[in-house]
Amino acid sequence: MPFNLLKYGLGAEYPSQADLPPPKELKSSYDVVIIGGGGHGVAIAYYLAKYHGITNVAVLEKSYLGGGNTARNTAVIRSNYLTSEGVKFYIESVKLYENLSNEFDFNVMYSERGQLTLAHTDATVRAFRQRAEVNKHFGGRTEMIDRQQIRELVPTLNLDPGHLPVLAGLWHMSGGTARHDAVAWGYAKEAAKRGVEIHQLTEVQDLVIENGAIRAIKTNRGTVRCGCAVQAVAGSSSLLLKKAGIRAPIHTYPLQAMVTQPFKPFLDPLVSSSALHCYVQQTSRGEVVFGGGSDPYPLYNTRSTLDLKESLLAHAIEMFPFLANAKLMRQWAGITDMTPDYSPIMGLSPVKNYYLDAGWGTWGFKATPIVGKTMAEMIATQKTPDLIAPFALERFSRFIQVNEMGATAASH
Ligand SMILES: Cc1cc2nc3c(=O)[nH]c(=O)nc-3n(C[C@H](O)[C@H](O)[C@H](O)COP(=O)(O)OP(=O)(O)OC[C@H]3O[C@@H](n4cnc5c(N)ncnc54)[C@H](O)[C@@H]3O)c2cc1C
Repeated sequence: MPFNLLKYGLGAEYPSQADLPPPKELKSSYDVVIIGGGGHGVAIAYYLAKYHGITNVAVLEKSYLGGGNTARNTAVIRSNYLTSEGVKFYIESVKLYENLSNEFDFNVMYSERGQLTLAHTDATVRAFRQRAEVNKHFGGRTEMIDRQQIRELVPTLNLDPGHLPVLAGLWHMSGGTARHDAVAWGYAKEAAKRGVEIHQLTEVQDLVIENGAIRAIKTNRGTVRCGCAVQAVAGSSSLLLKKAGIRAPIHTYPLQAMVTQPFKPFLDPLVSSSALHCYVQQTSRGEVVFGGGSDPYPLYNTRSTLDLKESLLAHAIEMFPFLANAKLMRQWAGITDMTPDYSPIMGLSPVKNYYLDAGWGTWGFKATPIVGKTMAEMIATQKTPDLIAPFALERFSRFIQVNEMGATAASH
């Protein structure tokens, strides 16, 4: 419960204050430069300042704060992954989300609603059993439920869509959502309060690397020297990696989503089906949000397509037939950086003092707090926190991947 927010709401005075200080000139040098002002970039800046006292930090954002995938995602937060590395990591992120509004005195609208993933085949039921057990082992709240329990949880769901009747479900009680813009703005505001500079409309155009170490960052507003730098640019990861001369197995695909007119509340949990390539949730405003898998071809583009709209809506209507009468309000896309094992790349890079936060594909919003916390710890202590060690870039050359493909797909 964000008590200070409540006090403010019930108080007689509403002092107005800007969330961010007005823009200023870039300094010639910073201890840390963070490239990308999405949720991840500003979260890293916040934890650097708050827990490690490192405040000579600049976040450089080519467009506006949180305007990349942070603004475009469908805000699913969950920790019911498949691997022990993934589950441990995402559980910690969900824990941080639970207290974020309190920590910021700023309502990020975190809402635990539960997430239901549908199994339509025996093979999926077996895989879900494994996920439920791995989750429980690490303290996650996930269990298998049968058709009757699903019917009680989501009475409006069609349990017999066409050729794919629902056999069982993976019920993840910690599933939820948060307001994505508020998460980015909360982190940015608190980081700025502690002295971090957030420079919007500042594009990183090149990197100055000397003797194998990062020295400076070239931007459209001049060059700044840096002690170290972090790239947290989501869909643009491979473009910056190329400038740094780093090879990484990232392919970039558009990911689309869409939203309807508002309805009276009919759906509390988040519902997804990998077999139908579709997930559905109702927002606190009553709108219904749909999403699915990435577009099937690599592209750096945020256009929406008719074929995705047709296939996604067909499946959403199979799940909730009354939505056939819904009016679609908006459709949009983000650009996602996909790795072969559907896990992120975090940590050191072959360029000294140049850190990577990349490969977040379709699932990185939920990780925003724990990315911020662990990456900041790594930069400040020069040691890799255990929680992110499995996600190092070198796992691909050592063939120790963290395969989350089965737990990512259309569930995000
Ligand atoms: C449609 C859609 C639905 C999704 N749904 C979910 C979901 O439900 N749950 C979930 O966990 N994840 C979801 N994701 C994934 C999630 O949005 C991302 O993984 C996450 O937002 C990544 O955060 P970020 O801060 O790294 O990236 P971003 O928010 O994209 O921030 C990166 C920033 O870097 C900036 N930038 C890029 N290049 C440069 C440059 N050269 N110089 C300066 N700045 C630069 C960009 O402008 C951008 O603002 C979804 C993604 C999409 C597209």
